Amino acid sequence: MVLAGFFIFLIVDIKKKDIRALTKEQLREFFVAQGDQSFRGNQVYEWLWQKSAHSFEGMTNLTKETRAMLHENFVINNIQVDQMQRSSDGTIKNAVRLYDDLIVESVLIPTKTRTTACVSSQVGCSLDCKFCATARLKRMRNLNPDEIYDQVVAIDNESRLYFDRPLSNIVFMGMGEPLMNYNNVLKAIDKITSPEGLGMSPKRITVSTSGVPKMIKKMADDAVKFKLAVSLHSAIDEIRTRIMPFNATFSLTDLREALVYWYQKTQSRITYEYVVWEGINDTQKDVDALVDFCGFAPSKVNIIEYNPIDDGSFKQASKQAIAMYVNTLEKNGIVVTVRRSRGKDIDAACGQLANKS
Ligand code: SAH
Repeated sequence: MVLAGFFIFLIVDIKKKDIRALTKEQLREFFVAQGDQSFRGNQVYEWLWQKSAHSFEGMTNLTKETRAMLHENFVINNIQVDQMQRSSDGTIKNAVRLYDDLIVESVLIPTKTRTTACVSSQVGCSLDCKFCATARLKRMRNLNPDEIYDQVVAIDNESRLYFDRPLSNIVFMGMGEPLMNYNNVLKAIDKITSPEGLGMSPKRITVSTSGVPKMIKKMADDAVKFKLAVSLHSAIDEIRTRIMPFNATFSLTDLREALVYWYQKTQSRITYEYVVWEGINDTQKDVDALVDFCGFAPSKVNIIEYNPIDDGSFKQASKQAIAMYVNTLEKNGIVVTVRRSRGKDIDAACGQLANKS
């Protein structure tokens, strides 16, 4: 009998809708349908997004009855930071538990002047980059907009707590391919940039993609205001397909065409993420192909340090090879930065996010 009651409770609970899947208008309509006034919808919306309320009980400007009614109808599927690790360089990694007990990771990267949040967009990843630890997890599911938003809020809170300043930048370079979860990423960014959410400027947000041509064009058509970074790693099809097998489907020709389209529509500079590996892409021919590939628009190449992911088949290229890249790119008027890795000691660096903990 008791057990039956438990199951009934469970079924009822599963049926409850996540209240944060509702738009403000839908919330207003919900209250009207309940015989209440539409502005209650605004109040609840503000609690959910601006104040990041985790329970209905805490919504103190609502009556007890209203809070109970919300509780009967909805859940708030907020995330929980299960574990927080701090690196010797100040980087913080959060293991984030979702409502269905899956885990994603997000990272806070402090510098002298900025705090950057590196957030996840999927549990696991749909792509199969050979050098990336997340790829080994496969894609389990897409994150909901509120789950992406909550990661940002958690890091903003940590930034205020540990560094005495708010979060300044966001990069979608955690787990997952953001353009394979485009709608939810867009909804999350809408909330992050809205005055009713965190009110951040979209110029401080970068979406990093392995390069899904159709979606890059869609972003251009949607006239998004955030920045685009492309994880290129090679501008030669044969090599790129070897290290990023999905390149066989989304070839460099298609990717370039989409980027030309993006630039024509947005006039927004493109950043390329690029790791140089010994024996893979460390020759003059490789860098010449890169120059050729990105010459059509103002671009910046971020040379990222390789973060080993255990099996040893990829090895960071020599200092000379990096210098050759830097010289050739600069000679051709392409901005180039060489980025040191952060948070390596806690497996928080690019490509290392794989829920080891
Ligand atoms: N899927 C998106 C975002 C996640 S990966 C993308 O591909 O852009 C974030 C960045 O880390 C990408 O540039 C990716 O190529 C890079 N990366 C992956 N594994 C890495 C590793 N082991 N060392 C260094 N960078 C890595």
